[in-house]
Amino acid sequence: MERTALDNRHIPEKPSIRRPAVFFDRDGTLVDEVEYLSALDQIIIKPGVARALAALRNRGFLAVVVTNQSGVARGLFTAEFVNNCHDLIQQRLRRQGAQIDGFYFCPHHPEGVVPTFARSCQCRKPGPGLLIKASQDLCIDIAESWMVGDKIADIQAGLGAGCRTILVRTGYGRETEVNSSEDLRISGTAVVDDVVAGVKHILEHSPSDGTLKHTREESSCRFEGV
Ligand SMILES: [Mg+2]
Ligand SMILES: [Zn+2]
Repeated sequence: MERTALDNRHIPEKPSIRRPAVFFDRDGTLVDEVEYLSALDQIIIKPGVARALAALRNRGFLAVVVTNQSGVARGLFTAEFVNNCHDLIQQRLRRQGAQIDGFYFCPHHPEGVVPTFARSCQCRKPGPGLLIKASQDLCIDIAESWMVGDKIADIQAGLGAGCRTILVRTGYGRETEVNSSEDLRISGTAVVDDVVAGVKHILEHSPSDGTLKHTREESSCRFEGV
């Protein structure tokens, strides 16, 4: 039967399917911490990251980067540079059969020198803004999601958004483990050596029966044809 214009406005009865995600901090977690990474040749993806991301994807998780880049507000590099970094990271991961589903960064800082970005905001971690924005854009089930990072701000952002949390001992992680031991304990944050161990922890604490696994089409949050 031919479809009419009215058919095209039909709203599917099936509810949109939300998928879990793992939110990753960038510097000190996925790539080496270099203090205001400001040149592409400083990007060193930690060993095992591509394989770990592929394993997550295979279990139905999205992988999303959420990163504070106040260097933009501080005038150390531009927002375009940050995007270029993310393009390069994506390119390298793809070559190894992995990918990031979304990169989100906060360019702001209240004490910045670049007027457009020198302000307080909702997106700078420990705020949950980046995670919430990503969840809206990518149809993420935040209660089934995890935040992995090396600073207490990462953990606070994850908890604020409603995720389970993992601290890695890379980057500033060892300092964080010592300085924030009580907060980590109270919040039930798992502490692991590195991002690969973090992913292993997530996979061990997630259903393996495929209930998290949906196709990209099924996962669409948008009503089409409206
Ligand atoms: Mg970090
Ligand atoms: Zn911000």
